[in-house]
Amino acid sequence: MLEQSATAMARAVNAREISARELIEQTLRHVDATDRHVGAYLTRLDDRALQAAAEVDKRVADGVPLPLAGVPLAVKDNMCLSATRTTAGSKILGDWVAPYTATAVQRMIDAGAIPIGKTNLDEFAMGSSCENSGLAVTRNPLDLQRVPGGSSGGSAAAVASFQAAVGLGSDTGGSIREPGAFCGIIGFKPTYGRVSRYGLIAFASSLDQIGPLARTVEDAALAYDVMAGWDTMDSTSVNRPVESTSSSLREDLRGVRIGLVKEFPTEPLGADIDALYKKAYADLEALGANLVDVSLPTADYGVATYYLIAPAECSANLARFDGVRYGLRIAGADIGEMYEATRAAGFGPEVKRRVLIGTYALSSGYYDAYYLKAQKVRTLIAADFDRAFERCDVIACPAASSPAFVFNAKSDPYSMYLMDYYTIPMALAGLPALSVPCGTVKVEGAASPLPMGLQFCTPLFEERRLLAAANAYERATQHARSHALDPELR
Ligand code: GLN
Repeated sequence: MLEQSATAMARAVNAREISARELIEQTLRHVDATDRHVGAYLTRLDDRALQAAAEVDKRVADGVPLPLAGVPLAVKDNMCLSATRTTAGSKILGDWVAPYTATAVQRMIDAGAIPIGKTNLDEFAMGSSCENSGLAVTRNPLDLQRVPGGSSGGSAAAVASFQAAVGLGSDTGGSIREPGAFCGIIGFKPTYGRVSRYGLIAFASSLDQIGPLARTVEDAALAYDVMAGWDTMDSTSVNRPVESTSSSLREDLRGVRIGLVKEFPTEPLGADIDALYKKAYADLEALGANLVDVSLPTADYGVATYYLIAPAECSANLARFDGVRYGLRIAGADIGEMYEATRAAGFGPEVKRRVLIGTYALSSGYYDAYYLKAQKVRTLIAADFDRAFERCDVIACPAASSPAFVFNAKSDPYSMYLMDYYTIPMALAGLPALSVPCGTVKVEGAASPLPMGLQFCTPLFEERRLLAAANAYERATQHARSHALDPELR
């Protein structure tokens, strides 16, 4: 059962072929057996999950159909879940207990999903490998010598290793899509403002967006349909009706114009990866799509722009972690020393680096030169996408430039920042985008060939079109079935 899709699990629980309780018990046993190798979960919620399963069984027995009945859920640990430890992967929140539940998490629970645990992440979602977690190591379940990607690496690893059927992640510059690609699953970032950020510990508020990690596009659509929509508790959530995506998935791409980005050639990624993406584009054409060339001339400035805007916003957002209001406190002779000692001990090196860069970029005299200029480039990047979407319906490009790498391979921060080269432009423009497995490449020393992700992107609020296209590609190619778990986990 655990290898079934979330859609199939919910169907079985609603049909009372299996109880939520049995499904959750199976899941917890599997987590017992595998998570000591993977390290997806920071906090496990066994008792609470079993209790929630009993409630779901009761609701189902009462005749209430639940779209996610009994579905085991992994929740990234930067999302609040009432009365549970919520750490954001940081020592500064190592023992902090959330007093309320994030809207997105609550909507999943209301739909019958059952949180199994809180998953590891790069500290405050800053990173692309999970190696910046201040608390634990998470390994890629396809090859335990490699990172799961990040920052939502814990949720991605949990879903890929069948320790959950759906994971919640947050994507600021690529943190759902890149770990999705690294773990061979679907990583879907909705339009900015589509899913409430209430209860998501803020990194960069103008970019952060919650979305699902799942093993099928249909499961991602189901989770999105449940989570999306206006929330009065988040003033940036959009008050606009949500169209069901799970009911409009397609099997072909006839008549769909798919834009290939001129500035994203795949030849520089190496012969094998180039061949893989060329094959993926040919598969799209074989499904009926018309391939057209589009241009995103300013996309190359994405990383530079992002690494001003995101640190600027994080320097403001993280000011609240001062030893007074939340979590860790290290005593000092006066309040100033207490602040300094607390932040020095509580934050890891990447978080400190970003707070410094962000504070610098926002300081008087530099604001216009850096922050304001970055905002202007952000507008240009969004305008590039608008022009590209006059010529196409969906953009297709790589999700990441390489498969999952080994631990410590990107110890230079800049090389880590470049991991999000293909995902940052969409985040800056607020666009919906997802990564779907598009085949594997042989990598020396890897346990088995490693998956790569094909990224699709559509205009704002065109989630229906996005998921429909991804579903057609996935159904036709079935790449998610082509990679194997690490021998240790088989
Ligand atoms: N890797 C990027 C960063 O470090 C994106 C992270 C994210 O999307 N949360 O900021």
